[in-house]
Amino acid sequence: MKKQLLSASAFLLFGFSTMFAQHNVIAGSTQVTKAGTQEQQFTRCASPVPSAEWDTQFNKLVEQYIKDHQADATGKVNTVPATIPVVVHIIHNQNSVTQENISAAQVASQITVLNADFAGTNTDITSVPSIFTGVQAGNTQVQFCLAVTDPNGNPMTEPGIDRKKWNTISGATDPNAASSGAALQTLFNNTIKPATIWDPTKYMNIWVAKMDGSGLLGYASWPAAAGFPGGQLGTAETNQNSGVVINCYAFGTSGIAGTSGYTPYNKGRTATHEVGHWLGLRHISGDAACGDDFCNDTPKQKGGFGGGQGGLNYSCPSFPILTFR
Ligand SMILES: [Zn+2]
Repeated sequence: MKKQLLSASAFLLFGFSTMFAQHNVIAGSTQVTKAGTQEQQFTRCASPVPSAEWDTQFNKLVEQYIKDHQADATGKVNTVPATIPVVVHIIHNQNSVTQENISAAQVASQITVLNADFAGTNTDITSVPSIFTGVQAGNTQVQFCLAVTDPNGNPMTEPGIDRKKWNTISGATDPNAASSGAALQTLFNNTIKPATIWDPTKYMNIWVAKMDGSGLLGYASWPAAAGFPGGQLGTAETNQNSGVVINCYAFGTSGIAGTSGYTPYNKGRTATHEVGHWLGLRHISGDAACGDDFCNDTPKQKGGFGGGQGGLNYSCPSFPILTFR
């Protein structure tokens, strides 16, 4: 699993960065011209950096998994294929399926991208630099499907979709009015997630909302296990906060994806990136200037532009910028 799943990080997280390498990137974020006049700056990923203790404990679990599943001579582990049911909580302020109350087709388009990326069957895989072609094996054997039953076991009218007006959630304020990434995460982690989350041991929870004020494209929680520290904003992930939050304009490939100044974030890769975190993948640079993503089949990777924003590898202006062990 380590070999396969973690190889995927080279593609998922490195590929994410190279895809957007053509943009003017400053300290881990990017500037995109909105409507040709107004510049809008996005923070692509606001997932908190997990603690060293989290890394230690998580990697112990990975090692144990490898032991339990008997790696072959090449180090390849026989993984058990998994298909994870997904519920997309659409947090909106509309009276019909329009705007940020996104369509079922847009949701489905995101699942299609996730499944292609995690199976390594995406058609733009040639964008991976040649140095990584040997490790882009890609098929993580993790797939995703829209949930067909709700937590009560009832068939869902719209598979995998839970529509909620934000003002029907007790204590919630408008996600679009959150004026910073931190404020947006506080709103979701403390109010919206606990009120809407479905059992994270049975579903992968995705929240989609309009969040223009925050400037965020998305963020994820980290996988938790008993006693894991630092998974989510300094505290362990719990059944109240597990999942990923994605900007409605950066979700999927159809509908409103990419509109309102959010081109080119209409390829579904924000969710691919964040779901990678949700499954335990670090940024390839290890969130450092030259860090380790704990994937022993890829070299250490230089961080982002000037090592900015914790060294996120968003912005290598020309490939390669590598430091080999
Ligand atoms: Zn990230």
